[in-house]
Amino acid sequence: MRPRAALALAVGLVLLLTGCGEPGKTPSRVAAPPAASATPTPKPKPRPSRTTPPKPQLRPLPKNLPAGLHRHSGDRGVALTFDDGPNPRWTPQILDQLRAAHVTATFCLIGQQARRYPQLVARIVREGHQLCNHSWRHDMNLGRRPVADIRADLVRTNQAIRAAAPNAKITWFRQPGGRWTAEEVAVAGQLGMRPLHWSVDPQDWDRPPAKAIIKRVESASRPGSVVLMHDAGGDRSQTMAACRTLIPDLRRRYGITQLR
Ligand SMILES: [Zn+2]
Repeated sequence: MRPRAALALAVGLVLLLTGCGEPGKTPSRVAAPPAASATPTPKPKPRPSRTTPPKPQLRPLPKNLPAGLHRHSGDRGVALTFDDGPNPRWTPQILDQLRAAHVTATFCLIGQQARRYPQLVARIVREGHQLCNHSWRHDMNLGRRPVADIRADLVRTNQAIRAAAPNAKITWFRQPGGRWTAEEVAVAGQLGMRPLHWSVDPQDWDRPPAKAIIKRVESASRPGSVVLMHDAGGDRSQTMAACRTLIPDLRRRYGITQLR
């Protein structure tokens, strides 16, 4: 297989295999998989690979998730988490819904997005939601990189969040795609952040209809569930529509609580 096709296929596989597949603002990656099945255009001279510099070694992903990940809200209520924002179109919509329902959630922010939309970060904090660092650019392999690189990424992201909301408490860190390593959990801890996983994943990043999102969340939720959804990274209209049913339903059945 030609390197290009192999790359497209690899990107497609990564998107298929991970729960939090879409990065903040590269919708073009969603269109990558079809390219893998298309006939590759013949290229006359592939460049010899020995001229390209060696790629940095990535630590292998552990077979099992490392110890210490939080996937329980801490009480009977269900905790809502929204990843990959802030986004100027969708984040205000979910904030409006949460405010109208008098409940709060946790927002897992991308550093680049926080830098771009500081007023949204400020609103999230002002309205009493919790903050979670979700890496600078949604790096799915961040946990596999050298510890110094992990630390630099997390620090940079926190700086962007705090530039928008000075003194904001950033309680949590969530690795994109849930591709955790023990080293990364340790770095987050050294920076004062607790590792936040989830227990309910409706895969809304894959844009199923609102009905499916509602069904997946409601059938999987238990007391103390941590629900993963997205307020960025693509068209989130179905997530927004699902939340109009999910927020009142979950509040009635379990209560919607802050993570603790
Ligand atoms: Zn994510």
